[in-house]
Order: sequence, then structure tokens, then C-alpha cells
Amino acid sequence: MAIDSVLSSPLGPPACGKDAKALQFIEEMTRNADSVQEKVLAEILSRNAETEYLRQFQLGGATDRDNFKSKIPVVIYEDLQPMIQRTSAGERKLIPTIHEELDRRQLLYSLLMPVMNLYVPGLDKGKGLYFLFVKAETKTPGGLLARPVLTSYYKSDHFKTRPYDPYMVYTSPNEAILSADSFQSMYTQMLCGLLQRQEVLRVGAVFASGLLRAIRFLQVNWKQLVDDIEQGILNPRVTDPSIRECMSKILKPRPELAEFISKECSGENWEGIITRIWPNTKYLDVIVTGAMAQYIPTLDYYSGGLPKVCTMYASSECYFGLNLKPMCKPSEVSYTIMPNMAYFEFLPHDPSAPPLSPDSPPRLVDLADVEVGREYELVITTYAGLCRYRVGDILRVIGFHNSAPQFKFIRRKNVLLSIDSDKTDEAELQKAIENASLLLREFNTSIVEYTSYADTKSIPGHYVIYWELLVKDPANSPSHDVLNQCCLAMEESLNSVYRQGRVADNSIGPLEIKVVKNGSFEELMDYAISRGASINQYKVPRCVNFTPIMELLDSRVVSAHFSPAGPHWTPERRN
Ligand code: AMP
Repeated sequence: MAIDSVLSSPLGPPACGKDAKALQFIEEMTRNADSVQEKVLAEILSRNAETEYLRQFQLGGATDRDNFKSKIPVVIYEDLQPMIQRTSAGERKLIPTIHEELDRRQLLYSLLMPVMNLYVPGLDKGKGLYFLFVKAETKTPGGLLARPVLTSYYKSDHFKTRPYDPYMVYTSPNEAILSADSFQSMYTQMLCGLLQRQEVLRVGAVFASGLLRAIRFLQVNWKQLVDDIEQGILNPRVTDPSIRECMSKILKPRPELAEFISKECSGENWEGIITRIWPNTKYLDVIVTGAMAQYIPTLDYYSGGLPKVCTMYASSECYFGLNLKPMCKPSEVSYTIMPNMAYFEFLPHDPSAPPLSPDSPPRLVDLADVEVGREYELVITTYAGLCRYRVGDILRVIGFHNSAPQFKFIRRKNVLLSIDSDKTDEAELQKAIENASLLLREFNTSIVEYTSYADTKSIPGHYVIYWELLVKDPANSPSHDVLNQCCLAMEESLNSVYRQGRVADNSIGPLEIKVVKNGSFEELMDYAISRGASINQYKVPRCVNFTPIMELLDSRVVSAHFSPAGPHWTPERRN
């Protein structure tokens, strides 16, 4: 289709015929949000009618909303865990999926560039430098493959044999993305990005933390990369034969480029390094909403304030939707849930309301019926079999596109600490503290109070745990070494996503314990009360991120300790 005959879209003039179709699809879906949702629910219920899970609720073949809502309970992961455990075991959450789900994800991906092209022209004139990674996969005892959702996608034919699209050309070869060795993968992706520096129009990773990890990698490894570019020979640490073969076709001696990179990287000042090395970059494509907002200042520093584009909102359970105004400020980002992805319901979230009781089941609202300004917890029913499953994300409605609501991501429930894809909740932190405190017993020492903080000032970021100790026998107080071991004991009891980040991906730095003076937590309480907290109801926050509170705690630190080694982590069984 010629450009001038392209259908115009209420979202803006499409860049090409393919984009016109994608924008039209978005219009259709969002105009008919409620009827699409009704159809999706009927489709899911009729397809899955014979599943053991649905049969127990005796829908009797009904596929309508009323029957569904009155008969099927709202659940959380823990409710489903016994069923999931029948085919799998392990501590990481495992979410069922089906092959066809890849098509749905691909469909959502295919909508992102057409929207982007409305705002940034000329993205077909260059490439994207994206740092994308696969992780090790395992087999469950029941024989099912278990791997992160993005690993499934990158390893699928949808990604590997994607047709050429001038708007989606990456500098990273598939061979590098698909290497499970994170060093070799990152090294090659960075090298390819440097070799094609003038062609790069956008730089990205899935989350902000991933892009910062790449910058850190460049800081540590630029000399070797420069050597490779100068001599046209790939570093022998990259041993993967498919990468070596692919790079042998690309790598030629380029002394001038090597000299340029060396000059930029050898300086002390890395401010604006992204735009210095990749001068044609128009934006950073990374998620900076939710827990990732903590990385915005660092990204701004390294990129000289390039726009940060959050294109989509997704999870292992389901891909939800996309941002229709991708060039907006991070604080204004909203995601439009695409009604074809799953059946969506919304649990009104009112922190001041009494907790839900099992006798009065919550009233869930449909996608088209949510109200602007209100907050909800997202509940999904997916083609892959999750029914009325609480995702744990809290969203606020900030407007509508046609009849589809647009949501601002507020937070994930119960996550205290997060550096990369790790999510540590209050119970996990408490358990880790208890395990570490066992090491203090023989020193007659106990932990009086604790709180925590995700320190992302350095890359990779790390968990900081503040401890106030009661040392009953000062002559025999725990040594520096013992406290270092406490850091490791905490790490050992954190979940496997955390430990994998520490050991296999190096995306999380060693955990730090800062011991504070006695009485520091009382001062913390005084401070909170002076700011209006109730004395009766005051609870020690188990995570702090308010600068004055951190300053107060930091000024009371008497010693700091780091984990001396990586915690135990191995993929259960490798393919
Ligand atoms: P996972 O299943 O480990 O990939 O984590 C999915 C979760 O990551 C979601 O439920 C959200 O809590 C969070 N998440 C995903 N996309 C975004 C986004 N665009 N903004 C904020 N948080 C997000």
C-alpha cells in the first residue's frame, strides 16, 4: 500500500501501510472494549470448560459473565500453588502458559513501533541497540519446560525468524541474544553496538536496570572491547562457536573507531556517555515506571536527559497493554490495556477499607466500567488457564482511549525490595533476618530492629539492611567476619530470582548490613511521630526510601558489612 493511500488514524498519520493496520486494530479494540471482553471470556470458558480446574465450579457450559462471576472464586498464586506443584517443584513462581500465547504477545509487540512512529520519524533509517538476554531454563519433575517469559519469546520462531522490518532492525545478532552465558552475550551485544555506533537511533533494554548494567559493563570492559575493534579479533573469552562465526563476518580492524571509544571511555567523566558514543540516539527504550523509577536520575546522567520511553506493560502471566503516548514524561505514563489479551477485572483498592472477608466476596469491576481517579488491583482470566487471578499490581485510572481505560502503574503489592527482576516481600525479608540472626546466638546478640533499602546509586544496585543490635555480652560481640557471614546467610534465604541475579547475571551486588547505634530506631519513631504518625499505630517501616530517614539512619551507622561470596544458585536441571 502506498503511503498516501494509507488509512488515517485518530492516533495520528501512520508511517506506512503496516502501521495503518496496527493503529486501526488498536482503534477497533479500544472502541469495542466491553464487547471484545465479553467475547474473550466466552472463548476462554468454552475452550477450557473441560479442565479439571473449571469443572469443579460446575459452570454447566455457561460462558457468560454473571455465571462466571458468581461461581468462580478470585484467587492468588498461593491458592493455585498445590495444583502447579503437581507438575513442578521449586520456589520461583511458575505460571502456566500455552504455545498460542506467543501469538498474542507477538501481536502486542507488533503494535509498539506503529505507535512510536507517530511520534519519532525516521526510525527506519537506522537500528536499535537493545540489550536482550535469555536465561537458563529448567525442566519440572513433570517434564514441562520452565523458563522466564522473555526467554521463551526470544527462543521462539516468532522472534528468531521474524521477517525483515526496517523499523525493527537491531544491532545485536540473534546468536548473541540467544547465548545463555551472560558475559558472552553482553560482550557481543556491546561490541556490535560500538561497531554500528552511527547507525544506532534508539538504545534500550527491557527494564532501566538492564540498560544501566550494560553501561557498567562498558565501564569495566571497554579496554578489551577497544582491543577487539582495533585488531578486528574477537576476545577469546567469547567461546560460543555460533557467536564467533557470526562475528567473524562483522569484525574488521577499525583503529579510528577504537581510538574514539578509548578516548571517550578513558575519561573520568561519564556524563552523557550514551549520546557521546551513540550520537544519533533519539530516545531510550526502557521501562522506568513502578519499581524502575528509582533509576531515572542515573539514566538522565548517562544519557544527558534523553527521552525515556516506556512502551508496554506486561507480566509472566499475561501481556497487558501499551502506552499510546510513549514520548510523555515518566510520571505521566499510562498504559492502555488491550481487551483482546485476556479477560480483565478490577478489584477496587482502598487502603483505608477493612480487609476483605471470605464471607463477603469482593465486587469486581469490568474493564469498561472502571472510574477515572480510582485505584484497582488487576485480576486476570487468561487463555492459559488462570481464572480470576490477582496479579498484585495496583493501577490508577487516569483516562480513557475510546472505551478502554488508561492506567497509571502505581505499585506492586507486597514488594519491599527490588533491584532488577527480583521482588522481595516483607515475609521473605523477615525470614532472611531470622536465618541470619541464628549466627548471632552464640554471641548472645539479637536483632532489636531492622529496616531495608534498595541502594541503586552504584551499579549493580544492592540491598542494604539496617540492624540495631542488642549485644548482651560486649566482651564477646560478633566480629566483622561474623556479620559478613550474616549478609551471606540473608542472601542464602532470599528467593531464587534474587540469587540468580547475584550469581548468574551479576545484576545485583553483595548485600550490605549496616549496624546502627542503639536507640536509632527510637529516633526514627520520634521523627515519624513529629511528622504526624500515630504513636499507637506506629510500625517500624521494613523498607525506607525517604531521604531524611535514610540520612538519619546513615548518620548513626557504626559498622558496615558485605556478603563475602555469592549465595548458592544453580538451575535445577539444564537442558
Ligand atoms: P514478571 O512476571 O516477573 O515479568 O513481572 C511482572 C510485573 O512487573 C508486573 O506485574 C508489574 O508489577 C511489573 N511491570 C511490568 N511491566 C511494567 C511497567 N511497564 N511498569 C511498571 N511495572 C511493570
